[in-house]
Amino acid sequence: MKNQRAVFLDRDGVLMEDTNYVGELERVIIIEAAYRALKRLQDGGFKLLVVTNQSGVARGFFTRQHVEIVHDHLNKQFAAHGVHIDRYYVCPHHPDDNCDCRKPSPKSLRDAAAEFGLDLARCYMIGDRPSDISTGQNAGVTTILVLTGGGRETLADGKTKPNHVADDINAAADWILAQD
Ligand SMILES: [Mg+2]
Ligand SMILES: [Zn+2]
Repeated sequence: MKNQRAVFLDRDGVLMEDTNYVGELERVIIIEAAYRALKRLQDGGFKLLVVTNQSGVARGFFTRQHVEIVHDHLNKQFAAHGVHIDRYYVCPHHPDDNCDCRKPSPKSLRDAAAEFGLDLARCYMIGDRPSDISTGQNAGVTTILVLTGGGRETLADGKTKPNHVADDINAAADWILAQD
């Protein structure tokens, strides 16, 4: 039965600072607001699914294994705050590869819907870049632009029309939890 709900989360600029092609743990800086935000969303019954473009792999800046090391690190930090991230969907390809998993492709969200039995119409996507919002729109989920990472730039550009704009992931969680 497709009645589960999820919040799809961009990684860089939403859960952690966007420090460009993060391949080393020294450059992983978790956005403090994310701990409380994810805990509240999880307690609210939402699956937590990260959807991230990591073209640095295709560009040779770091390996797929480094991406996993960063995600293991995130899992440990979040687990210490009682948060379990259910799955990471990673596109390691170059934009020129024309793969079907790079955002704004909705493929990962559709795969997740099948895997977790999600009702996409009751799911949310939180991101800081135009491609995050497009991904959510392409999959039919409610979209939230956060003003961390590249969010202010995205908003100023004026071309991206999310359902809601929030200061950060915690404010995004407030809005999501107030929708019920
Ligand atoms: Mg981002
Ligand atoms: Zn891809």
